[in-house]
Parts: sequence; structure tokens; C-alpha cells
Amino acid sequence: MHELSIAMNIVEIVEEQFGKEDNSPISEMELDIGAASGVVIEALRFALEEAVKSSILNNTRIIINEIPAKSKCLSCAHEFVPEDIISPCPSCGYLYADVISGKEMLIRRIRYYSGTGGRVQGSGGRFLNLGSVSKDIIRVIKTSKGT
Ligand SMILES: [Zn+2]
Repeated sequence: MHELSIAMNIVEIVEEQFGKEDNSPISEMELDIGAASGVVIEALRFALEEAVKSSILNNTRIIINEIPAKSKCLSCAHEFVPEDIISPCPSCGYLYADVISGKEMLIRRIRYYSGTGGRVQGSGGRFLNLGSVSKDIIRVIKTSKGT
């Protein structure tokens, strides 16, 4: 259910930007989801299939990029891919590290057509970077997780 609320939030954010037109100008949406974000990508993909029905994203191709987790050792600054939540530094063995990537959860970009035609086809179109909306998505996740 966690992923479904994220999927519905994504649809809401996009409809806030583009309205709920019948003739969607959006051909493609690209999401960045970090491996350490707590989102199961397959579950999100499935949730999106449901959430986009009768929305502006109904015919949009959705690409989900999984961003690998990366940690930086707090002792020696070595960067590595953590194997678990607590993963000692492979260089010096120190137990504490910062997660420097892999927590992303954002709409990387949206490919859309503007103008009167509103036709969605081919690989052209303009890109809208909606990176800043990740905060909204994260807010919903925090809410749905409770305290
Ligand atoms: Zn280290």
C-alpha cells in the first residue's frame, strides 16, 4: 500500500502541473528511485499501472531508474556500495557511514508536447524537470509510514 500512495501522489503532482486534460500532452515520465529509499520498484510499477488509469498519465510511458545505494565512510571517507543497513567500511572496517545516494525518490523529467496539436508521438517534445517535487513525495511517504 506504501507504493500505491506514492504512485497516487505522483499522479497528483503531475496533474497539478498539467491539469487533467483528456488529450494528454505527456508522452514519457522518468522517475529516479533510490535502492535505499524503501520503495520496492516492482510494487511501484504495479501501483502506477493502477494509479494512472483515467489520469493524465494514462498513455504515458513510465521509466523507472533504480539509483544504487552508496555510502561514504565517516572515518576514512571511502565510498562504497553498502550490502546491508549496517555495512562496515570495506577499506578500514569502521561501522558508521553516510548514505550519499540511493535515497532518491523524484520525478526526474517529463516529456511533453505543448501547443495546439497536443499530439503525443515520436521521440521529440520538451522536457520538464520536476526534481523539486521529490519533497512532496517524501512527505507522503513519511505520513504513510506513521511515527
Ligand atoms: Zn573507512
